Amino acid sequence: MSAEEPVVESVRYSAPCVDCGARMECWGVHVLTGGSLRWDVESVCSACGQTTADCGQPLPAPLRDRLLADNGPTTLHVPDPSAARVTVMRVLRAELGLGLTEAKTVAGQVLEGTYSGTLPEVESLARKLRGAGVDALAARP
Ligand SMILES: [Zn+2]
Repeated sequence: MSAEEPVVESVRYSAPCVDCGARMECWGVHVLTGGSLRWDVESVCSACGQTTADCGQPLPAPLRDRLLADNGPTTLHVPDPSAARVTVMRVLRAELGLGLTEAKTVAGQVLEGTYSGTLPEVESLARKLRGAGVDALAARP
C-alpha cells in the first residue's frame, strides 16, 4: 500500500429526515486521505427526496461502532516489539491527543498487537509510526 493511497471504510444506515421525519437512507464514508481522517455522510429521504451531504464532521461513536461491526476491526502490528516505546507514545499523543498515562497504556497495546480500530484510523497511525521510524502495519485479523 503506497503512502498516498486513500483508505476507505463505509457504512449504510437510516436516520429520520430533518424535513419530513420519514426514513432517510444514509451512506457514511470514513476515509484516510492526504494524511488526515474524514467522515462524510450522504443521505436521501425515501419520502420527500431531500438529499443532504454532510462532510468533514467528527465520526460519531455509534457509527464508528457500526463501521467496526460491519467491516471488522483492523489491528495495528508493530513487528519488532522492542521498537522504541517512547517514539510510539509520542506518535500516539500527537495523533490521538492522549495524555501521558493513556499514551503509555495504548503504546503497550500497540506493542502487544492488541490495539485495533477502523481501517482508516489504524492505517493512519501505521503511516505516522513509519514516518517516525517505527515499522508498523495495519492488518485485518
Ligand atoms: Zn423527507
